[in-house]
Amino acid sequence: MILLDGKKISEEVKQEIAQEVNQMVASGQKRPNLAVIMVGDEGASATYVASKIKTCREVGFDSTDIHYPASVTEEEVLQKIRKINTDPTIDGLIVQLPLPKHISESKVIETIDYRKDVDGFHPINTGRMAMGLPSYLPATPAGIIEMLRRYNIETDGKNCVVLGRSNIVGTPISLLMSRKANPGNATVTICHSRTQNLKAVCAQADILIVAIGQPEFVTADMVKPGAVVIDVGIHRMPSTETKSGFKLKGDVKFDEVAPKSSYITPVPGGVGLMTIICLLQNTLLAAQKKIYP
Ligand code: NDP
Repeated sequence: MILLDGKKISEEVKQEIAQEVNQMVASGQKRPNLAVIMVGDEGASATYVASKIKTCREVGFDSTDIHYPASVTEEEVLQKIRKINTDPTIDGLIVQLPLPKHISESKVIETIDYRKDVDGFHPINTGRMAMGLPSYLPATPAGIIEMLRRYNIETDGKNCVVLGRSNIVGTPISLLMSRKANPGNATVTICHSRTQNLKAVCAQADILIVAIGQPEFVTADMVKPGAVVIDVGIHRMPSTETKSGFKLKGDVKFDEVAPKSSYITPVPGGVGLMTIICLLQNTLLAAQKKIYP
């Protein structure tokens, strides 16, 4: 079994991005600037935003951190987005999800200029991705593809089972895995809460990608010997083993699945680190106007 080391790969990509930023600055261009809008004080979101801003700093990006209280109106957030859309100093804009119930996520996403939508959630980017046209790829699926590429994992003609069909992970990764590309060219099955015989379907997978949001859901009996297992799940579980009183777990029961797999991502240290770095890759592409000149 080989551990798919998100820390190592994300460090490699980080160095590559930092080098490009140095070259841009040396040739007189401005640093890429990522704006992050956060609403409310939900603990997990605050942690994600802080680590996105920190990683921006590490690669030499500027960042613009905008924080609203949970009571902010939808219109106020939309107005801010419209302002950033026309601000030439900002290259990419993300709005940290989830949002409070009185703010429509789809309205927010559709208000972001698709050319600055570095999360890749805007329908124009999603549609272009589905058609195989250049677009910002959503960061988590892009991170998975980057990992498969850098570990030279064969995907061509393989059976890939994706557990989960969310707009941000399950659906886009299933599209990317079935695309005529490398990595890609896999035969993809998407599973969800209505799937019958889920265990048997998963056990057919050469590549099993799990994003269902259920801690340690995938057990060894659901995994084909030698499968590649990608665990997207992140759960903060109470633990007596750590000082902090919690431990991060994935959607896969790592201890029993790892010995059966050929490659597996750990949690933490796997897909999560790749997600942030792929968001920065998109921001670099936005600053360089590589997707939408
Ligand atoms: P969602 O909750 O949006 O989607 C979960 C999907 O899993 C749904 O399609 C749902 O089916 C399906 N599902 C849930 N329970 C079952 C079940 N018992 N059997 C079969 N299918 C089931 O989750 P996300 O895609 O947003 O996130 C998934 C996980 O990944 C979470 O743990 C999240 O924290 C993590 N995550 C990690 C990221 C990272 O950077 N590493 C980034 C994003 C998410 P249905 O559609 O029928 O309801």
